[in-house]
Amino acid sequence: MNSKPKSFDELLVQETHIYLCRSVKWTAYLSVFLLVAIFIATVLQKNHLLTLPDLLVLEMPTLCIAFFGLAGILYRQPEKHRMGLVLAYLLVLEVAWIYFVVGHYWLTSSYDLMGAHGALAAVDSVTDVLVFTFAISLFPVRRWLIISVVPLLLVNLVTRLIEIPENPIFALTKFVCLLVIIITGQKVLLQWFRKAILRDAEKQQLLQQFKRMALIDGLTELSNRRHFDEVLALEIKAAERTGDPLSVILLDVDFFKRLNDSQGHSEGDRALVRFAEVLHGVASRPRDLAARYGGEEFAIILPDTGLDGARHIAEQIRVELKAAELSHPDSTLGDYVTVSQGVCLWQPGLDACDLLASVDQLLYQSKSQGRDRFSCGIAKKEADEELVSPI
Ligand code: GH3
Ligand code: MG
Ligand code: MG
Repeated sequence: MNSKPKSFDELLVQETHIYLCRSVKWTAYLSVFLLVAIFIATVLQKNHLLTLPDLLVLEMPTLCIAFFGLAGILYRQPEKHRMGLVLAYLLVLEVAWIYFVVGHYWLTSSYDLMGAHGALAAVDSVTDVLVFTFAISLFPVRRWLIISVVPLLLVNLVTRLIEIPENPIFALTKFVCLLVIIITGQKVLLQWFRKAILRDAEKQQLLQQFKRMALIDGLTELSNRRHFDEVLALEIKAAERTGDPLSVILLDVDFFKRLNDSQGHSEGDRALVRFAEVLHGVASRPRDLAARYGGEEFAIILPDTGLDGARHIAEQIRVELKAAELSHPDSTLGDYVTVSQGVCLWQPGLDACDLLASVDQLLYQSKSQGRDRFSCGIAKKEADEELVSPI
């Protein structure tokens, strides 16, 4: 319940990381698919220009790197990977692709002096697919997107200038247009990405706020009655299952109405807050739960605690409260705020109602015996209230 919601910046880093890890996977998948398609297309082509060994030498580095990515990254949790590693992997994959494209172009055009257009068409299709693949993969990190896209566009530009030197305008126009489209698209995508994350961060904060409002008392910041009831039911179930002891303390501030009447409500509120701090400090084990039961009544659930342990806690509360010296000039018991307590040990077979009725009876006993004390007992079925045995 107390886990802090992530800030926008933390979520942005986390989501960027998750997105990049996914990008690595589908860029690697796409690379393998593309290489296999190129291989099949070349084999099926009659009089193919490249020999199969040449083609394999060209494809092997990219294929190996793509497989390394799939094997090394796909089957692990994305959280385990640093963002830098993922980005570096994508760039290595891109370098391997550039090696393939340039090598393919160089071999094809040198073997086939008449087939310049075939070589250019191959470079064109592969670089176009790669430009958009890397642009989409790296859109959350603009710098890396540009670093990956510009070399591919340059390969395309240079081959066009070599193959069709008489028409450089077309090659340059394509270069500029694609770069502008990609940078503008990246801006739009990044805005949507950031907006979605911002909404997510706001939603998490709201949820946290609602949870607090539903389970925490606004004045004392202790658990409220609703949370107390939920936890008590769960702890009773746990104690039934494990056989561990379970105790509950019910506390009621003595003559609190007089404190309000003489010192004012705000002073009364301050005393309640300080009193809650004392309870919070004393009920300090991870599973202990101190709650505001209502008004100036409080309750503590003590799992895995027998009557001796609970008695010790009740005594500690008396001592700490005395040491806190919360002024109460109208108390007949002294100058400071005191508290009466009922301390009760749960018994197997009893439900929360039985336990609360028993502890309430013990608290009443402390009140009737003069206040500023605690009474201990063992819980009994609600119908047998007279059987609660003070110890
Ligand atoms: P006793 O020793 O028998 O418990 O007497 P008491 O005066 O403490 O008990 P009583 O039930 O007569 O009065 C409880 C008072 O607690 C009445 C109510 O106004 C006050 N109270 C309840 N909730 C709050 C609160 O949130 N802030 C303040 N300041 N007072 C509260
Ligand atoms: Mg009361
Ligand atoms: Mg009271």
